[in-house]
Amino acid sequence: LDQRIDLEKTEDELGQLALVLNQMFDRLKGSFDQQNQFIADASHELRTPLAILVSQIDLALRRDRDTAEYKDALQRCQRSAHRMKQLVDDLLILAAADQNRLKLNPETFDLADAAHFCIEMTTPLAQQNNITLHLNTQPATITADKVKITQVITNLISNAITYNSPNGSVTITITQTARKTTLTVSDTGIGIAPQDVKHIFERFYRVDKARSRQRGGSGLGLGICKSIIDAHQGFIWCESTPNLGSSFSFSI
Ligand code: ADP
Repeated sequence: LDQRIDLEKTEDELGQLALVLNQMFDRLKGSFDQQNQFIADASHELRTPLAILVSQIDLALRRDRDTAEYKDALQRCQRSAHRMKQLVDDLLILAAADQNRLKLNPETFDLADAAHFCIEMTTPLAQQNNITLHLNTQPATITADKVKITQVITNLISNAITYNSPNGSVTITITQTARKTTLTVSDTGIGIAPQDVKHIFERFYRVDKARSRQRGGSGLGLGICKSIIDAHQGFIWCESTPNLGSSFSFSI
């Protein structure tokens, strides 16, 4: 798979055929490269908590410890194991989405109620970070997979809290027309540069790896949001101004 056909410059049918085959080749190679990068990123993400797990176990077994030391080692192991489980769960969701196996259980519900529930879920994180949450909406009935849509909203709100400025705020707005319903999560945070916005829904893409890791992020959250919204035949997008804030919206 590393040979392009060097006949593109000829004007005849053979040249045309070579052109089409080479285009196919480029696309196929692009997919392989992407897949390889994904496997490399996933392995790298799993390797870090795994290395912590192994070193904590080795250390604990090297000599006799007192109960407090064993407990401390076990707690570190637990954190790493949880992180690995979360990562594997996320990877399984993405794999299912890629094979069109993401099962949707549609039901009719009020998106404003769901957003309200998400705000309650994320309030402790907001309080911890000194961020205020606002909901700006009328009832908006939709038919969708409530659990998965709730996951998307929670994800967008927790990102809006994490990547906010001190004493910042997060506003959730819902608008509905006869044809579509749009939910927007806006923050007053650090924002995202235009060259990063382009890639923001790509798997493992993170603007600030250290900040993301610090809060236990893997860089898969927005990829999962996109897969869920795609499965609903909806759209998800981001608008952002560095140092002013970002808005993440989806419409279904
Ligand atoms: P994670 O937050 O776990 O790293 P995500 O896929 O949710 O992964 O987000 C990918 C990256 O997008 C984050 O690492 C961060 O750099 C950027 N990002 C996401 N949401 C925001 C936001 N509201 N403001 C600024 N940057 C954001």
